[in-house]
Amino acid sequence: MIRMSNIHKYFGSLHVLKGVSLEVNKGEIVSIIGPSGSGKSTLLRCMNQLEKIDGGMLEIEGMLVEAAGDVGVKVTAAHQDIRATYRKMGMVFQSFNLFPHMTALGNVIEAPMVVNKMAKDAAVASAEKQLEKVGLLEKKDAYPSKLSGGQKQRVAIARALAMNPEIMLFDEPTSALDPELVGEVLNVIKKLAQEHMTMLIVTHEMGFAREISDRVIFMDNGEILEDCCPKEFFENPRHPRIKTFLEKML
Ligand code: ATP
Ligand code: MG
Repeated sequence: MIRMSNIHKYFGSLHVLKGVSLEVNKGEIVSIIGPSGSGKSTLLRCMNQLEKIDGGMLEIEGMLVEAAGDVGVKVTAAHQDIRATYRKMGMVFQSFNLFPHMTALGNVIEAPMVVNKMAKDAAVASAEKQLEKVGLLEKKDAYPSKLSGGQKQRVAIARALAMNPEIMLFDEPTSALDPELVGEVLNVIKKLAQEHMTMLIVTHEMGFAREISDRVIFMDNGEILEDCCPKEFFENPRHPRIKTFLEKML
């Protein structure tokens, strides 16, 4: 479903992804863990084309994106149009990124109406379903400034879900939250896990990663050092670098 082969990414002379290869199958939940600056966000951003790759190949549901030197990237759509493929990926950021001048409902209906040309009635009906799923239907008319961090992040998740993604990418979805608000956001993600949503989650919540993931990936300095099941990762880390990291985190 997602396959990254030997991905390289540079910011100027800084080599940020150094030949990353990774496969994520349908319904799999993969946590990405690693020190600050190791390239976790860049990896997610390359996956959904917020950043251009400089080397290697990316395959998303039959669509190939290949780095092609000076012309940037070469895209081969095997059986779908490219934008439709990217719409299959929903992304949730650390900093919520809600539109401040729109209500919770307004935030959720925006992309389905503007991008998917959905009629307003249908968009509202679907948005209300998503807001209910994240436990915020009663806040649908509230503006982001009137919502707590946890509520804002749940609206952001509802907004991503409203596009019917097949894959959800989470980049430290709870890092900006006060500790008492972390649980409500993690619970929404757990609910998605029960529905077998394919997810890649960058997180510093070790207990959560252990509980929810099928696989844990450890990134360090632009490379994947480990890719294994959570039990093995947390109980018997093979790499000294991971041992040191976990000792600091736990
Ligand atoms: P954190 O845990 O702090 O979020 P991260 O693992 O997500 O870290 P990235 O944000 O992917 O790390 O950054 C990897 C490296 O790339 C860092 O050295 C960072 O400074 C650099 N970097 C990221 N984005 C840019 C950019 N747009 N321009 C230049 N350098 C960048
Ligand atoms: Mg990051």
